[in-house]
Formats: sequence, C-alpha cells, structure tokens
Amino acid sequence: MLDCEKIRFLKYRAGRFWKRPSDSDVKGRCNVCGRGVVFEDVDPVRMRESFRCPVCDSSTRNRLLAYALGSLLGDGDTPLARMKQNRGIKVFEASGVASYCKYLSGIFDYINAQYDPAAMKKPDFDRRKFADLQGLHYPDESFDVVITSDVFEHVRFYEKALGEVYRVLRPDGLFLLQIPYNHGIEKTVTRVEVKGGGDVNVLPPVYHVGQTLVYRDYGRDLLDTMRDTGFKVEYLEIELPKYCVPGQGIIIGAKDHSFRLPRGLRSAI
Ligand SMILES: [Zn+2]
Repeated sequence: MLDCEKIRFLKYRAGRFWKRPSDSDVKGRCNVCGRGVVFEDVDPVRMRESFRCPVCDSSTRNRLLAYALGSLLGDGDTPLARMKQNRGIKVFEASGVASYCKYLSGIFDYINAQYDPAAMKKPDFDRRKFADLQGLHYPDESFDVVITSDVFEHVRFYEKALGEVYRVLRPDGLFLLQIPYNHGIEKTVTRVEVKGGGDVNVLPPVYHVGQTLVYRDYGRDLLDTMRDTGFKVEYLEIELPKYCVPGQGIIIGAKDHSFRLPRGLRSAI
C-alpha cells in the first residue's frame, strides 16, 4: 500500500509537464478581482508568472494562493474582492508585492512587511511596514496565517526564518509557502554559502526581480526541515483550470498536527 506522500510524489512525476493552457482555456473568472477576463500569456517560460489577469494583474501563482487561502478559511471559490471582511483574522505576509495584497489588506488585519535593513536601523521604524523573517519583532502566537510567496529562496538563514514563522503563528495557525521548489530532487542545492556576515557564491549567481540574490534551489529536504521546526507539512500540486492556473506546487505548514486539508484543497490535488 502506498502512503500519501508517495502517491503525491507519483502524481508530481506524472504532472511534471503540466499542460500549458490553450487559447480556449484562457477565458475565465479571476478569483482575485472576481472579473470575467481573458488571461494573458505574458511569460512563455514560467507558467507560474504568466496568464495574467488584465484587470488585477494576478499571475497563476497569485490565483493559486488566493484559492488556497480562501479554502483554508472557508471558501476557495469566493474571489478575494468579494470576501467578507474579518479583521479578527491576523495575517502576516513577508515582502508581498502582488496586486492581491491590497485585497488582503481590505479583508484581514494584514501586515505586509518588506525586508529593508537600512529602514530597520532607525529606532522608530514602522513595525507593520518592515520586518526581517530571520528575526521577527512580533510576539509569539501573533498571527492566524503567515504567507511568503517566492521569498524564502532569498533568505540567508532560512532555518532561522522557519523557526520565526512557527513562533509567531497561533496554535492553530497556518503557513502558506510558495517557492521555486523541485519535488523531484531530494536535496536542496546551495547556490550561495552563508558564512557569518559574508556570502560566497558556489554556483553562478541567479537574481530575481529587483536584483535579489537566490541563495538556494529547494528540494524535498525543505519539507523535512519544516517538520523538524514543528510543522505538520502538506505539499500540494494543484491545477485550477477554471481560474486558468496550470499545475504547480504550494506548501502548507500547520502548527496543529490535527490539521486536515479542507475539501476545496483535497479535491484540487
Ligand atoms: Zn483579476
């Protein structure tokens, strides 16, 4: 009998070459802004960044996040733009830059903090605008949800950052992690060795938007590191044709080990 992890791995292998949405697949409803649109294939290489909504500019990665968040909080099929306001839910996002952030700030008590070492040197810097994942200035058990979307590949001390995310989550809190991640490789590939205050490139440097250095390419041992940190971990490969989201991964870390995936996510795997 195969365990769940193996089944997921086999499904991943089967889905490694996810189908690119065709011309007839690109018409649909955006689950971020709620508008009926024709999604635009703007990036021929990276499907996670493509099929942009012409109204809110959401990428497939953003719409997967919106669906996962909605499903975890009750209903994945309500667009963020129509989600009921609930300021009682505290959400922390590290370095969120996409258009969905403005919707989240209208719904939740939402902190979206950027990493800016220069700004954080000032003693009176705004704690809601700036934060360092490797040493968060929020008390233990502050948040219901923590989101990082394509941030962890840029974090120098990622184990420390995982520990910080765990610490600031409430006992039933959830961590939604999107990241360039390859479930087909076992060991994370280090691109930059981190030695105290200095960095040493061991592979040719790769930069993402804004000349942000990529420290590593994550493999499955990331999930083990998350488990060692204390999380119950779910790695999901999800395809949402109705929102023009081709298959891609998202990782959910739950502090409470009795956490079960909601139906909306189970059915989308
Ligand atoms: Zn949209």
